[in-house]
Amino acid sequence: APVTIAIDGPAGAGKSTVAKRVAERLNLMYVDTGAMYRAVAYLCAQEGIDVNSECAVEAVLDAHRVSFEEGEDRTLQVLIDGVNVTSRLRAPEVSALVSTVAAHPRVRQLLTEWQRAFAERHSVVMDGRDIGTVVLPHATVKVFLTAAPEERARRRQEEYRRMGYEVPLDEMVKNVIERDRKDSERAVAPLRMAEDAVRIDSTDKSIDSVVDEIVQLVENAHVR
Ligand code: C5P
Repeated sequence: APVTIAIDGPAGAGKSTVAKRVAERLNLMYVDTGAMYRAVAYLCAQEGIDVNSECAVEAVLDAHRVSFEEGEDRTLQVLIDGVNVTSRLRAPEVSALVSTVAAHPRVRQLLTEWQRAFAERHSVVMDGRDIGTVVLPHATVKVFLTAAPEERARRRQEEYRRMGYEVPLDEMVKNVIERDRKDSERAVAPLRMAEDAVRIDSTDKSIDSVVDEIVQLVENAHVR
């Protein structure tokens, strides 16, 4: 059976950086489920869709071809109508809409099905908010990666800076906390730590040490 590693946690905890490195170390594919929700939000922004209307979001999804595939570097690539939009998905405009889009049950249903089907065919490291709780309840290893809000905001601020956006830290803290609130309070698949997940706080840890810790968990799971 494929190996599945679920990494969940709030925005800016370091999930994608850590997940990508764990995937490289163990030669697994990295599936960024946030990118899938971001793809829907990006499409809505492009088409001027009101993201509060689930019907409107579904209609725009019906009218366009959104597809996900494995890239050369074994990370998920997102295509909309055949155009690779992966590098545009982390922009602040998309981040501002994504939690509203992700709260719609039918949107989640659609993406969850795709994520499960993918994990049945490949060994994966999958990161998101509901991987250990909903998408892959039988994952080989589950991690809940978190960090202090100020640290998470600082990391996101750096990420934005690299993309050419300058956002003040206090605004970033507000954004991160607001997104976590929306993700935790939604009715369907809220952000929550799975009961059998291992909690890792990355506030004062290097990326390498977090990666080592997770690789160790995977090795231990195989020995058992
Ligand atoms: O991880 P990232 O910041 O890219 O996630 C973007 C948003 O997508 C989250 O804030 C959340 O609203 C949504 N999401 C989700 N479930 C997942 C992954 C992401 O609801 N499994």
